[in-house]
Amino acid sequence: MAENCYEYVNENLRAIRENIAETAEKCGRCTDSVRLMAVTKTVAPEIVNHAVSLGLTLLGENRVQEFLSKQEVYEKSAQIHFIGHLQTNKVKYIIEPVSVIQSVDSLKLAQEINRLAIAHNKIMDVLCEVNIGGEDSKSGVSPDNLKRLLEQISGMEGIRVKGLMTIPPPSDSDIFLGRMEELFNKIKSAGIQNVSMDELSMGMTHDYQQAIIHGATIVRIGTGLFGKRNY
Ligand SMILES: *Cc1c(COP(=O)(O)O)cnc(C)c1O
Repeated sequence: MAENCYEYVNENLRAIRENIAETAEKCGRCTDSVRLMAVTKTVAPEIVNHAVSLGLTLLGENRVQEFLSKQEVYEKSAQIHFIGHLQTNKVKYIIEPVSVIQSVDSLKLAQEINRLAIAHNKIMDVLCEVNIGGEDSKSGVSPDNLKRLLEQISGMEGIRVKGLMTIPPPSDSDIFLGRMEELFNKIKSAGIQNVSMDELSMGMTHDYQQAIIHGATIVRIGTGLFGKRNY
């Protein structure tokens, strides 16, 4: 059973890598400019480690509790990004083990990350999460408030903004991936001090190829790699 499960991941990963390379080439991008993140929610850590053994070294974690329960088992070679909604009172649990927080969407959250990063003697790399579709159900800063939030964060010594992250509305994802690309380029050319726009994290199982066309540098894939989640 376990063997089959590993083979399933092998096959999925092979196909995803092939699609990424093909899409990147089609739009004149270098394959290496797109990083594949394995989104691990509900996946057993042994299976995640198998993916790591295949060369996948970027893991995306959604839930603090789940991450803490699996963290010990994870291969240390993998880099962990936090990608889920983050409550201010939980930052303390992830400030050390996580290398990027992709879901910064409020001043209050940024202030707490900054405070703890300074206390831990580190500079935390973050992405700002944008609610590009303006959906009530999603977290993320609105496109209109993004620049102001970035300017507020730019003065924080414990945080370095590296780019943007988004989850577009699934039904119209191509339109919103395009809007996200425009917003990313606009912010980039605004040249906010201490804010770099190197990373654009977008694209999931159903839309990662379109996301690459719209400039994604990190695609975050769960189902397409590990199979359907049972919830
Ligand atoms: C679950 C999740 C993903 C992956 O979604 P799939 O459709 O399973 O590929 C990507 N990003 C975030 C923030 C997620 O929560």
